[in-house]
Amino acid sequence: MTHYGEGEFDGEDLRAASTFAGVPDEFQRLWTPHRMAYIENGQQPAEADCPFCLAPGMSDEDALIVHRGTHAFVLLNLYPYNSGHLLVCPYRHVAMYDEATIEETAEIASLTQEAMRVLKKVSRNDGYNIGMNQGRVAGAGIADHLHQHVVPRWATDSNFFPIIAKSKAITLLLGDVRNAVAAAWREQN
Ligand SMILES: [Zn+2]
Repeated sequence: MTHYGEGEFDGEDLRAASTFAGVPDEFQRLWTPHRMAYIENGQQPAEADCPFCLAPGMSDEDALIVHRGTHAFVLLNLYPYNSGHLLVCPYRHVAMYDEATIEETAEIASLTQEAMRVLKKVSRNDGYNIGMNQGRVAGAGIADHLHQHVVPRWATDSNFFPIIAKSKAITLLLGDVRNAVAAAWREQN
């Protein structure tokens, strides 16, 4: 797996998203150049190398899994938009939401609700971004394996994350975040 670390964007011309052409709207943008690099440079993995197929075979700690359900599981995004960014995935390697079974969609929905409650308890966030990118053109990093994003948002977070994302600290913190979220999830059940 490719990792993007310190110095990746040295010499890059990084501009504030607010200087881009367009009409301002009510949406806050999370400007995440590290994430764009992942999307643009990252090859789509073959099914045998699919990170969401490999994760359930690993330990919770190594795979950053916070909860295992019957048809779907929840893990921390290795390339988070924000601290506590969770992904809800079916175990089955299907790409599109309309390919998921009734059982899978029902559990993805209930795990998404549970993820919201757990995150609220752990991180006291003010809001969430929840959703799925379907297909590479729509921004899916791993387009071949369905995953629902659950991203906690704080009133003050929009300009904070791109700075810490470029440091190694976030990688080290992922283990701590996983422990906290997994513990809260166990408590809830
Ligand atoms: Zn897969």
